[in-house]
Amino acid sequence: MGDSRNVIIIGSGPAGLTAAIYAARADLVPLIVEGFDAGGQLMLTTAVENFPGFSDGVMGPELMGSMRAQAERFGAEFVQGTVTSVDFGRRPFTVTTETAEFRARAVIVATGASARLLGLPSERQLMGRGVSTCATCDGFFYRQRPIAVVGGGDSALEEAIYLTRFASRVTLIHRREELRASKIMQDKAVSNPKIEFRWNSVVEEVLGGGGVVTALLLRDTVTGQRSELPVDGVFVAIGHTPNTSLFKGQLEMDENGYLVTHDGTRTSMPGVFACGDVQDHVYRQAITAAGSGCMAALDAERFVEAELHAERRATAV
Ligand code: NAP
Repeated sequence: MGDSRNVIIIGSGPAGLTAAIYAARADLVPLIVEGFDAGGQLMLTTAVENFPGFSDGVMGPELMGSMRAQAERFGAEFVQGTVTSVDFGRRPFTVTTETAEFRARAVIVATGASARLLGLPSERQLMGRGVSTCATCDGFFYRQRPIAVVGGGDSALEEAIYLTRFASRVTLIHRREELRASKIMQDKAVSNPKIEFRWNSVVEEVLGGGGVVTALLLRDTVTGQRSELPVDGVFVAIGHTPNTSLFKGQLEMDENGYLVTHDGTRTSMPGVFACGDVQDHVYRQAITAAGSGCMAALDAERFVEAELHAERRATAV
């Protein structure tokens, strides 16, 4: 197989880096293509308090830095850059970045999903300082404080309902006057006394003071009127986009573009495995991504072992 490697891992969030740690410890010398958003979604968060093993919490970027160092210690190799194309139709598989082409017996896809954002500069600036895309991760920080959730789908309502455990008030901001969410979620949200609705409203600006969120500037889409809503935090829950455009036509996906896996982390192409948020729109946690990264490495290891074994037998004959 020439200069082909054993394993290439695409993506360097908790799933990719856990796969890297396991594959490196199995002596597979994995190559990790880190991607444009190296470190994944945790690079956008501050304190992570639900990742087991850190009784005082850990900063998202620090956690990712430690995972990366751990993988490097066992011989994982990293390249910076973004994958521009893959060819899973021929063996060895080819993974191409802007500057280089790599080949491997097995590929682990850990490209994650990106939370959709409103696209406001102030939203970016205050990300992790009052702007969040994950209620499970950050809700705890808003005990007895007023917050807002943006969106009208199941995710937004689920986040809003969850956040009422902590917040003094949750204002749900939706751009229409009809929710997209399922009836059962609507009923739950509407009957929750801590949730208020702002219909026909869009966020024009996230307002900050002292580097943290203090209010939202809202515009009523019917009357055009602007108003300020004082909040300490805003959760943007307008959906996620799995980062799978590279794999269109090569790997099976569901109707929302998430990779379909079976028997652990196997994709529709033997030798290509998927882990983390790119194949999970339900749990979406760092720890579940890490767990599936471990599974992908074990699945890839078995696949490579079986291939090497078959090759050794063929040359012995
Ligand atoms: P979704 O169903 O696509 O809903 C996205 C919501 O965000 C919509 O209400 C949309 O408004 C709004 N939105 C989109 N872009 C916006 C923008 N730029 N500004 C303001 N609002 C914007 O996404 P989701 O809620 O993440 O759900 C994704 C899938 O997972 C769905 O199939 C859902 O049923 C499923 N899910 C299920 C559960 C559950 O069953 N417990 C929980 C979470 C998710 P419009 O309505 O005006 O388009």
